[in-house]
Amino acid sequence: MAETEYPASWYAATRDGAFVRPCLSASVRADVAVVGGGFAGLHTARLLAERRLSVVLVERRRIGWGASGRNGGFVGAGYALRSGALIERLGVDHARRLYAQSQRGVAIVHEAVKEMARADIVMGWGRLTVSRTDQGADFAQRTRALAEKLGATFEPWDTERVRGLLATRRYHQALHDAQGFHIHPLNFALALAADIERRGVRVHEGSEARALERQGIEWRLRTAMGEVTARHVVLAGNADLGRVHRLAGAVLPVATYVAVTGKLGPQLDAAIRWHGAIGDTRRAGDYYRIVDGDRLLWGGRITTDTREPRRLRAMMRADILAVYPQLGDVAIEYAWPGLMGYALHKMPQVGEIEPGLWACTAFGGHGVAQTAAGADAVAAGIAREDDRWRLFAPFGTGWAGGALGRAATQLVYWRLQASDWWDEKRQARNAETLRS
Ligand SMILES: Cc1cc2nc3c(=O)[nH]c(=O)nc-3n(C[C@H](O)[C@H](O)[C@H](O)COP(=O)(O)OP(=O)(O)OC[C@H]3O[C@@H](n4cnc5c(N)ncnc54)[C@H](O)[C@@H]3O)c2cc1C
Repeated sequence: MAETEYPASWYAATRDGAFVRPCLSASVRADVAVVGGGFAGLHTARLLAERRLSVVLVERRRIGWGASGRNGGFVGAGYALRSGALIERLGVDHARRLYAQSQRGVAIVHEAVKEMARADIVMGWGRLTVSRTDQGADFAQRTRALAEKLGATFEPWDTERVRGLLATRRYHQALHDAQGFHIHPLNFALALAADIERRGVRVHEGSEARALERQGIEWRLRTAMGEVTARHVVLAGNADLGRVHRLAGAVLPVATYVAVTGKLGPQLDAAIRWHGAIGDTRRAGDYYRIVDGDRLLWGGRITTDTREPRRLRAMMRADILAVYPQLGDVAIEYAWPGLMGYALHKMPQVGEIEPGLWACTAFGGHGVAQTAAGADAVAAGIAREDDRWRLFAPFGTGWAGGALGRAATQLVYWRLQASDWWDEKRQARNAETLRS
């Protein structure tokens, strides 16, 4: 039985109306079958439909039910694997081309919103990545050098400028990217679904892909009550692909959380005088933005324990007050969890993994624009226009290690979180000593 209600969130409470789409209950044919109704599947279907290919998309629950309908809504270039690490691993030229593909993802999201004439989906402009430790006198120079290497549009902001806009002593310098923006992600997913249907894509909710087998040069994809025969199949199931393909074992589910406060009135504006998307550089950093005029949408924390914490609202409230204690008695009206899908190498898994079988998944915590970047490469590959998807080839689709992989990843997170915490404490102590 299809789940018809979205999990409670501010996005679900403010979403557009959408009818429940019928489950797949027949044997159908298409050029391409897409598994997953999140951004990765929706963009892939849209870009294939633009190329006049016939597409059937199957979604286990509802459109945007997974990470795509629950995330922070930040749209910006780059990947979950940081750009410095990307350059170290692949060299400047390859890293620059991958970065350019992520910028293309940002542009695709922006163009889609414009083409659908949905001005209300974009909720604010600019993306600020703040540091909680002093980055030193050469920060601006290093930032500009990195931006130049990558072909990026971010620029350095000094501590004074950051603190002039964000009333907290926690922050030092920041990277500002004027090309970034933030959106209502669930409404964007729903708008994309309506748009692809207008372009002839058949969308089925309540339709879990359960088995996949090769039949000559085609693939047969089975759901509980139907099947699709297609020359190409795109697996875009993120953290929860299930048993349809072994790719599920290459993607680790990692939980993160979002909360939305009640209406805070002018005190919010006094604390946060900038209406773009703000995040800090820590591994399990905070990310937040103002929505609905004077509510604070706040995301943070990561863990491989996928159970929802019992005291989630209290935890999120404490995180907000640790940065903006002046907000005082903030009421949390909504708090919800979401699952990100990570490969061990932290890069997306994009490309043809067997003839006609494509992966477009594992975007981790950087997926709102990157899913469009991956979908763009996959659609061009299926249409045999180019093989840009090979840019992602150095990052394989290897097994993520199951329970052992989860435990090892959690240990790494704890180590990184401890080192972020220690860096902050050490700097604060040094500053104290200098003052006294
Ligand atoms: C709380 C949270 C905050 C985040 N914040 C940001 C942010 O601010 N900016 C950013 O860039 N990224 C962010 N991310 C990451 C981003 O949301 C994801 O990377 C992106 O949405 C992934 O899209 P997707 O389509 O791959 O996955 P999903 O949106 O999870 O979609 C996958 C879909 O596939 C379906 N499915 C799975 N298996 C099957 C099957 N066998 N048959 C049929 N259907 C199947 C699922 O039901 C699901 O609906 C965040 C993620 C979370 C969880």
